[in-house]
Amino acid sequence: MNNSDAKPPLIAINVVIFLGLPLLALLLVPTWGIYRGFDTFQWLWALAFLYLNGMSITGGYHRLWAHKAYSASPALKWFYALWGAGALQNSILVWASDHRRHHRHVDDDELDPYSAGRGLWFSHIGWILREYRSDTEDFSNAKDLQRDPVVMWQHKHYGVLTLFMNLGLPLALGIWHGDIIGTLLLVGLLRLVINHHVTFFINSLAHYWGNRPYTDANSARDNGFLAFLTYGEGYHNFHHIFQTDYRNGIRWWQWDPTKWMIALCARIGLASDLNRVSDFKIQRAILDTQFQRARSEMEQTQGSATLRASLEREYQLFTESINQWTSLQAERYERKKSELSDALEEKKGQLGDALELKRAHLQHKWESAALRTRLKALEYSLKMQRKRLGLLMQQAQLQAQMA
Ligand SMILES: [Zn+2]
Ligand SMILES: [Zn+2]
Repeated sequence: MNNSDAKPPLIAINVVIFLGLPLLALLLVPTWGIYRGFDTFQWLWALAFLYLNGMSITGGYHRLWAHKAYSASPALKWFYALWGAGALQNSILVWASDHRRHHRHVDDDELDPYSAGRGLWFSHIGWILREYRSDTEDFSNAKDLQRDPVVMWQHKHYGVLTLFMNLGLPLALGIWHGDIIGTLLLVGLLRLVINHHVTFFINSLAHYWGNRPYTDANSARDNGFLAFLTYGEGYHNFHHIFQTDYRNGIRWWQWDPTKWMIALCARIGLASDLNRVSDFKIQRAILDTQFQRARSEMEQTQGSATLRASLEREYQLFTESINQWTSLQAERYERKKSELSDALEEKKGQLGDALELKRAHLQHKWESAALRTRLKALEYSLKMQRKRLGLLMQQAQLQAQMA
């Protein structure tokens, strides 16, 4: 859409930071390494800074502030605000506002600030280098963040904070260690450049490379290798459909150190209200995607009438499960409401004697246990259906090969 001679002007400071610093790192780090060398102290501190910065972006900027996937105590917020400023990716307010725009208008080349549709370079770093946008000061989608004193304090003092975290702290470490230049190069410069690019991979590569188990509706992908580099953010297909979940990798074995950190913070009282999408909704998304694929595949391979009929029957069962689940949820909601009003009545002293009260409590307990069992059974039935659908598709593929 922008041909080369109509590109908006470059933003000088961003060119220096995002192109100049990597070039400097590429030149100076190996040179210093060859002539003077780095030691374990410097490598370990660089790694520590990398994770402190990276996870303040993923756990703080992203999952806490942009998506409200959980609540954090003031201490944790201050921690994120400081180490996040050290990542040099703008203030929480700007970052989270941009990111909300990205989710809302994903793949829209006009409205998604780093739309993958405009190419790998653009979505990785190109979008930062030029004055592509007129909405950088529009925080209308982040009014809640403007009410957060930590966010606003960080926004106001961002320049000083990021200088202190990127120059001040590494300098202090270097003085302590007795090698100022080496420490500045590794803990200051190289760490910053690496962290920039691994975070940017989420906007670029994680929209190009990987698979889409949960939704085909946008370009976001799940990619275990990228998750390893990006502190767990590589399960981006899941994240785009369930953005308020505090997890990105939902299986216990999926590499998501950010989710582990948040869970640990919850254990020690620094975080609360962790949002988890129900297993049923996750299964439903996977099945829905698989049904769509199965249908188009059957159409392409001209699957036999029996197989098509089986597929349609499975789909009908799937719809029935969803309807049942929806009505059970409604029932659960009604129950909660009536329990609440009973509790109120009780407070007012309008509900009979103690025995009658106890009976009502037990009845409630039994009913909600029965409801939970039915919900669990539905969840299980979707899991089984996924297996059957897989077998059905294998048959269709076999038939296509035989034909
Ligand atoms: Zn994305
Ligand atoms: Zn997000």
